Amino acid sequence: MTRIDLHCHSTASDGTLTPAELVRAGAEAGLDVMAITDHDTTGGWAEAAAARPENLTLVRGAELSCRWFGVEPTIPLHLLAYLFDPGEPRLAADLARLRSDREQRAEKIVELLRADGVDISWPEVSGYAAGGSVGRPHIAQALIRAGLVRTTDEAFASRWLGARYFVPKADLDVFEAVRAVREAGGVAVFAHPNATVRGRIVPDKLIVELADAGLFGLEADHEDHTPEQRAHVRALAGELGLVVTGSSDFHGTHKTVRLGAFTTELSAYGKIVSAATGVPVLG
Ligand code: AMP
Ligand code: FE
Ligand code: FE
Ligand code: ZN
Repeated sequence: MTRIDLHCHSTASDGTLTPAELVRAGAEAGLDVMAITDHDTTGGWAEAAAARPENLTLVRGAELSCRWFGVEPTIPLHLLAYLFDPGEPRLAADLARLRSDREQRAEKIVELLRADGVDISWPEVSGYAAGGSVGRPHIAQALIRAGLVRTTDEAFASRWLGARYFVPKADLDVFEAVRAVREAGGVAVFAHPNATVRGRIVPDKLIVELADAGLFGLEADHEDHTPEQRAHVRALAGELGLVVTGSSDFHGTHKTVRLGAFTTELSAYGKIVSAATGVPVLG
């Protein structure tokens, strides 16, 4: 059996393994195929490629911060983009803008916390991100260090980063993101589309429209989906002719999920690889 995990984070965003450690951990966990999908960056690609064990196939990708502007309030969502050309100017500019906005937003959150006497600082948080895409898990790390919460999960509670000290990101319009990924030769898969535990989700009718706009697949098997939600996403993908993926969304010690906890079928993986023209898989 081929074990395929198409959604993993490294220190290039909010994971805790470096890209080199991530690919080695993937091979050790018995994966045959692993995708590196850091938030809004391809910054981990080169290191992961250089450290790739011979028996591991590497899919280079990213997880794009998007938003559906068709309802009020608007709904944030994540789009996995695979095998796109990182040098394609429009998508590269989109990613750069998302990362710089993440920095400004994290600085704002730190300021709100400091205004309430919380003893953390932007240099500390920025240091945890260490040049990668900054995210709330890095602020959570500072809150843990300051002794205010014990875990990342606790830091995402509503009294901290979940609501009281929440500042939204400036995300990409999801339709424009799907178009940009395709123009860069990539394949777009909607990450954890029914994960109500993460907040509001989009209606199926939006997914129908996204499929028309060039969306390629839906991530059904994910720890944030209940068995019913997994079945629903799978059925919807079937109706729309979209591929179904399953993945761990591994984040190292920022989350408890293990590599390969959910996997993608070989046939779905094959379709993704065949559809992409941006960069090849490695291995
Ligand atoms: P951000 O991208 O800055 O909005 O932060 C959200 C990220 O934090 C997501 O990518 C999650 O992977 C990560 N995260 C880790 N723990 C949690 C949690 N308990 N709730 C929500 N997000 C979490
Ligand atoms: Fe994350
Ligand atoms: Fe995500
Ligand atoms: Zn993710």
